[in-house]
Amino acid sequence: MAGEAQADCLFCKIVAGEVPATLVRETETVVAFRDINPQAPTHVLVIPKAHYPDAAALAAKAPQVAADVLREAGEVAAEEKLDGTGYRIVFNTGAGAGQTVFHAHAHLLGGRGLEWPPG
Ligand code: AMP
Ligand code: ZN
Repeated sequence: MAGEAQADCLFCKIVAGEVPATLVRETETVVAFRDINPQAPTHVLVIPKAHYPDAAALAAKAPQVAADVLREAGEVAAEEKLDGTGYRIVFNTGAGAGQTVFHAHAHLLGGRGLEWPPG
């Protein structure tokens, strides 16, 4: 069923506390933690606790939780003092776009200049 934890999913294991992560925020529905391979001075992943394979599936099946992810990304940005300089929220979707973990997640990136288009 949509949203159920997947035994082979790395981010479900982080949500369950089975894999360690550096948490920066947690709510009833969302967890935010630092990316293990940061691409910017601030690189935080914001994920729903429930498992959905990508952002579009999350928005289709649990729109309130999708909104929670975006709100929490903004809260992390504010805590990291990025709201003045700007930041980027990225949802890689599909292997061809660089998605490697198929549990929906927002990358929050900031703290350096961010080029556009991103490549
Ligand atoms: P994506 O490539 O968009 O699916 O993003 C997956 C992200 O998860 C990458 O930026 C990885 O660096 C990050 N990542 C993988 N394993 C871990 C981990 N154990 N803790 C934190 N971040 C991780
Ligand atoms: Zn998962």
